[in-house]
Amino acid sequence: MLNLIEKAKTTHSLTKEELVLLLKNNDINEELFKAADEVRDKYLGNFVHLRGLIEFTNICQRNCMYCGLRRDNKNLKRYRLSEDEILDFAKKAVSYGYKTLVLQGGEDAYFTVERLTKIVKEIKALGVALTLSIGERSFEEYKILKETGADRFLLRIETTDKDLYEELDPGMSHDERKRCLSDLRKLGYEVGSGSLVGLPNQTIESLADDILFFKNLDADMIGIGPFIPNEDTPLSDAEGGNFTLSLKVMALTRLLLPDINIPATTAMETLDKNGRVIALQCGANVVMPNVTEGEYRKLYALYPGKICTGDTPSHCRGCITGKITKIGRVVSDGPGFRANGAEPKKR
Ligand code: SAH
Ligand code: SF4
Repeated sequence: MLNLIEKAKTTHSLTKEELVLLLKNNDINEELFKAADEVRDKYLGNFVHLRGLIEFTNICQRNCMYCGLRRDNKNLKRYRLSEDEILDFAKKAVSYGYKTLVLQGGEDAYFTVERLTKIVKEIKALGVALTLSIGERSFEEYKILKETGADRFLLRIETTDKDLYEELDPGMSHDERKRCLSDLRKLGYEVGSGSLVGLPNQTIESLADDILFFKNLDADMIGIGPFIPNEDTPLSDAEGGNFTLSLKVMALTRLLLPDINIPATTAMETLDKNGRVIALQCGANVVMPNVTEGEYRKLYALYPGKICTGDTPSHCRGCITGKITKIGRVVSDGPGFRANGAEPKKR
């Protein structure tokens, strides 16, 4: 087992069988986490990149079984930020020092490409990198948004198990999801993807496939989070994801993709009150604090127990900086594009 970790650390490659062995064996977790932390340090150094997350609409035309924003959830008060509110939150985030902003939301048809183009232009004029996470769109729409200035796109594959995906995301096609990722890549976006850990009937083998899929996609960013059951969804009684297993999928992703950006996800912190700091010490190098203000923070209810919903963006910024500094890391003041094959950074 330890040889496998050593192999992954030096060659950044493992077979599916080897990944399964490592995922199933819990005696080697400490060694695995340490190896991922060392690889992160070798390739990316001490820096942690912060991304300011604007949750701009909780209206969604999709019906993903696991998600609180699904259209059939009638227990959620819906909101859509105005263009002015989005701009206001963006400007404040820039004033707190964020160099990347992420616009994330449900698949809300109100936000046509024309409306989005205007918003993208205004945010780009603030001098920050911009990530979109707005779900599935056509090649043409992705193209216009890229040409307008969007730099990156986050679209999780959620699971590489096609049958499971199509069961959990009714009306959605796994091939179409892959088409989107491939289009985004062709268009020159930095592509972020990722998956949920602990979906009902998800196997360890399919988690190994997820990691190999990320490697094959040569993703620039991968976000791994535990699935957290939401009582307003059909999966309310599901068991949900396990913190350690999510951490292991993340650590193995770091070993196979040594120079990519990996966030310590908010969902990790929902399961463990120190979750993001632990993730930062097991291979992660990015945190995405919420810069949405007021009631909207609670209403963007993908899953229950979301952290920091009562806090202000300026509080979150100070809090996370404190946590990062405390573990001897440094908040980066650059936009944090992928190191991309660069020589490991000397410190
Ligand atoms: N609508 C866009 C972006 C918003 S959803 C999209 O689907 O791509 C962002 C992410 O939240 C999803 O990719 C999913 O992985 C995650 N998510 C949704 N429900 C969740 C739950 N119950 N527990 C944990 N993560 C969840
Ligand atoms: Fe909508 Fe995204 Fe939630 Fe699916 S995961 S219901 S697309 S917000």
